Amino acid sequence: MKAMVLGAPGRRLELEARADPTPSAGEIVVRVEACAVCRTDLHVVDGELPGPRLPLVPGHEIVGIVTVVGAGVDSIQPGQRVGIPWLGHTCGCCTYCRSGDENLCDQPLFTGYTRDGGFATHVAADARFAFPLEGFADPIAAAPLLCAGLIGWRCLCKAGTGRRVGLYGFGAAAHILAQVCRWQGREVYAFTSPGDVAAQAHARSLGVGWAGGSDEAPPDLLDAAIIFAPVGALVPRALAAVRKGGRVVCGGIHMSDIPAFPYRILWEERQVLSVANLTRSDAVEFLAIAPRAGVRTTTTVYPLERANEALADLRGGRIQGAAVLVPSV
Ligand SMILES: [Zn+2]
Ligand SMILES: [Zn+2]
Repeated sequence: MKAMVLGAPGRRLELEARADPTPSAGEIVVRVEACAVCRTDLHVVDGELPGPRLPLVPGHEIVGIVTVVGAGVDSIQPGQRVGIPWLGHTCGCCTYCRSGDENLCDQPLFTGYTRDGGFATHVAADARFAFPLEGFADPIAAAPLLCAGLIGWRCLCKAGTGRRVGLYGFGAAAHILAQVCRWQGREVYAFTSPGDVAAQAHARSLGVGWAGGSDEAPPDLLDAAIIFAPVGALVPRALAAVRKGGRVVCGGIHMSDIPAFPYRILWEERQVLSVANLTRSDAVEFLAIAPRAGVRTTTTVYPLERANEALADLRGGRIQGAAVLVPSV
């Protein structure tokens, strides 16, 4: 197999040839067809998240074909197309696992962070955390659903059922979620970097009714806002844009510091909350909803070997929708 490997945070990924993975009991091995690049991969590569496994193969939005199944795996067969997301393993016995909050597990493994991920031709995964993708004919189009879609969905559930939803940062997650919101009959307000008219046009092309800069106030008060951009200064801005009792959901794993703000913009029962990881039921739910909602992803494809370029383009805000790595062989 080949993999793009992170030797230490802050370094470029290096192409490495390795022995093909063999599945442990309960694991599967997948031939990667496509792996989308998430902002979390940038945080890992840039050293903004503590304690990655090193050396590390990043990547947690994996679509591929099962080649081998390990002992005890009967839910998945060789030849099946599956998706492998960020949540790679949970302990099953901590307080959180036992209460249905496995996204908060005390002893988790995360794909492409604390276990090797999908910037590779092959990857091993815990079979219980891989999801059959029957009905998803295009692996490149499906890859961004595995994190941008799943985490976006969890954020939307936390945002409540209000009609007017603001999305701060119109990247991979927001471009998927905007389509789900439209399908649900909600009004979407897209906030981009000030002056990013390309992202605003992309938002409008997906049925978003209002698109503007994150320094602008929306024409109506929002029922909820979801922040995908890793910019703490957006928290007070979003709070100022939501109605009484409204919610601001922070969807990222890392954010710059939130500046001090006057209590009056939180008062009147506004809430700020964060979303961490995903549960397997989030995945099952969203992978059923995405085709029904007619979600179409916008992707820019890079050969696996050019992963560094994909990361740089994502860092530089040059991607509409999602960047996706595809092994060339
Ligand atoms: Zn992600
Ligand atoms: Zn646990």
